[in-house]
Amino acid sequence: MSDIPSREAKVYMQVTRRVPVTVVRGEGTRVWDTDGKVYLDFVAGIATNTFGHCDPGLADVIAKQARTLLHISNVFYSEPQVELAELLLKHSPMDRVFFTNSGAESNDAAIKLARKWGKQNRDGAYEIISTHNSFHGRTMATIAATGTPRYREPFEPSLPGFHFVDYNDVEALQSATTAQTAAVLLEPIQGEGGVNVPDPGYLQGVRAWCDEQNLLLILDEVQTGIGRTGTFWAHETSGIEPDIMTSAKGLGGGVPIGCVLAKEHAAVFEPGDHGTTFGGSPLATSAALYVVHRILDDDILGIVVARGEQAADAMLALHAKHPVVTGVRGRGLLLGMELGEEIAVDIVSAAVERGLLLNPVRPDTVRLMPPLTVSAEEIDEAVAIIDASIAAVTG
Ligand code: PLP
Repeated sequence: MSDIPSREAKVYMQVTRRVPVTVVRGEGTRVWDTDGKVYLDFVAGIATNTFGHCDPGLADVIAKQARTLLHISNVFYSEPQVELAELLLKHSPMDRVFFTNSGAESNDAAIKLARKWGKQNRDGAYEIISTHNSFHGRTMATIAATGTPRYREPFEPSLPGFHFVDYNDVEALQSATTAQTAAVLLEPIQGEGGVNVPDPGYLQGVRAWCDEQNLLLILDEVQTGIGRTGTFWAHETSGIEPDIMTSAKGLGGGVPIGCVLAKEHAAVFEPGDHGTTFGGSPLATSAALYVVHRILDDDILGIVVARGEQAADAMLALHAKHPVVTGVRGRGLLLGMELGEEIAVDIVSAAVERGLLLNPVRPDTVRLMPPLTVSAEEIDEAVAIIDASIAAVTG
């Protein structure tokens, strides 16, 4: 057994309740711990390792770029940065992009855009309406935007100007809108909130309200974008387009990169308004170029849809044997197995013992987000372990 957990306990800030596994190596959908035990990884860095671990193509791109040009300040031009910008704009309804290093930074930039846009276009309106159970990051601005009070309360006073309404409730959004409202901020499927898919018509209703009231619609696609839900962006299935959109997680396939994208009317940054040392580096943008090209060129979206349906059907079928499984939420390979009891943590622990990494996103929901390249056999294997784990927990 490794001594890493006891060493960590003495030196690392204790902010995460970690799974007791020290991972030393990965390949595809599998990782190995310090004892040589192998696990199927259905967490994938929280929806981040797009092609699993140590994808040879991605590793080659990173190595080649590291030998060519790793980092250069944004005061200079960089070819991979411009190429990635062009590619993302070609495959999104947006006009401009700015690269960051994470989801939180991307949302922070989106909030800055909305505030400046409100100053210029809505008589100084600066407030943003977000949703309960949302998650937008851990910086001071993004905890203020996150609809989960326990993330903000220890750090109050919060950045002012955020209001929260229930997800899926257009009327609540309408009632909360005032002359001070500049924007609405939403995840097209709530990830950390428990894999909550909106009802049909919700996103369209929000879009219509934003159009009627001259508000910006900001979609946080940090968890749902880059093919995770079976379309390149999750909002595509709704037919609507946001004014501002954010991305990160799967974009770099494990290399830190995020971005904020905006339509021309919302891309109100001017020289000096924003910046970053690391964001959009040659290394990160080369990695993301590989990820985006491969998703589109290798029909990864088709695989995501097929494997997602396979996994959802297999988990739903567990209900006959385990009535505690009450449903499956989600789309593509962002799935939440719904439980009739608050036993998600126990099931995840039992699965880890049996060689499967999962995430208890809510006390009554187990989240699955394997690499987009997961095989049909690996899904069968994972569901068999989930079956055995539920049996072990419910006895
Ligand atoms: N937005 C959403 C929807 C997320 O799921 C997350 C992370 O889970 C974030 C923002 C924050 O991203 P990061 O941890 O890269 O800052």
